[in-house]
Amino acid sequence: MGKDGGTKMHCPKCKKICVCRAIPLNEIVGYKPDQRWYRTDHPDINWFRRGRQCLTCYESFVTSEVNEKFINELVELRNALSEIKKHSEQYIGESKQASMTLEKLAKSLGVLRALKFYKETD
Ligand SMILES: [Zn+2]
Repeated sequence: MGKDGGTKMHCPKCKKICVCRAIPLNEIVGYKPDQRWYRTDHPDINWFRRGRQCLTCYESFVTSEVNEKFINELVELRNALSEIKKHSEQYIGESKQASMTLEKLAKSLGVLRALKFYKETD
């Protein structure tokens, strides 16, 4: 806790660590006053929500206290998705190249088929 009752945390607007104070959730537009919330599609993931206000830019936002294993899972998933994205882009690039090569090969084969010599050696 800071001297003004705030806690140092990452402010999404300042994009750096700032002192933020806790504020009631209902002061943040669009949020119901209940603090605990869980996803009905993932009942094993639940957390404690808290309204926050940055004392540098006065931006209000909501933080969630969650079991750390879910943060680790999120990081692993983010890393895995990044790898999949990288490999997909590589695959798409190579597929385009393979497709172009195949088109050239088909064209060459067409020319070769038109030659009498090709038919004789067939
Ligand atoms: Zn801020």
